[in-house]
Amino acid sequence: MPFVKASPEAQLRLLELADRDTELGRLDHRRRTLPEIAELDQLNERAAKVRDAMTIADTNLSDLDRDLSRAERDVEQVTDRIGRDNVRLNAGQVSNARELESLQSEVTSLRKRQGDLEEVVLELMERREAAQALRDGAGAEAESVGADLAAVTARRDAALAEIDEQAAKATAARAAVLTDVPADLLALYDRIRASAGGRAAAELRRGQCGGCREMLSTVELNEVRAAAPDEVVRHEECGRILVRTADSGM
Ligand SMILES: [Zn+2]
Repeated sequence: MPFVKASPEAQLRLLELADRDTELGRLDHRRRTLPEIAELDQLNERAAKVRDAMTIADTNLSDLDRDLSRAERDVEQVTDRIGRDNVRLNAGQVSNARELESLQSEVTSLRKRQGDLEEVVLELMERREAAQALRDGAGAEAESVGADLAAVTARRDAALAEIDEQAAKATAARAAVLTDVPADLLALYDRIRASAGGRAAAELRRGQCGGCREMLSTVELNEVRAAAPDEVVRHEECGRILVRTADSGM
């Protein structure tokens, strides 16, 4: 590690820099772990399922509509034919006994067929009603999921906007602090931060490292005491820069 010297004032500014970096790290963590993110994931999953259910219901409905109009057409054809046969029967157009019998038996079997087809129509109508109820349910759920999505999205966006605002302030404050930190001291600080994570500079307070909270041994304290004020000292235990303040007890 290169030997770095910096004025006590510049070293004090490192504490502010560490505060701003801690704050920025905290904001970044908050941004990534907003509860709304997990909520939106779940809602989007639900929305996809509801969309699938709606598609299936729509397909069922159009299939049933097609079957229903076909069955209704069949009923209509049979009814028409019965009507025509009855006209012939009632008009007395058929005098031949065998022909009359055959026509009457045709009407009988057509009435039977008409009854069967009408039952088919009724059954299809019932199935269509059930399919429509499923479709309505899916539609209502889609609406409710859509409303939830909009509400949670708005909440997430508001939280992000607030975080962004705080981050912008912290970033500006950090930039202001940086103007008072010499390049070699900043390079050391950045190196420690990259390797250790978290705070790279901590206050030495009444013999305790403000970073790892360990008490310094007497030997270590004596070494710090012996170091010149412009010498940048580090806590051997955690590697952080130890900044001496009026509260250090030196
Ligand atoms: Zn430490």
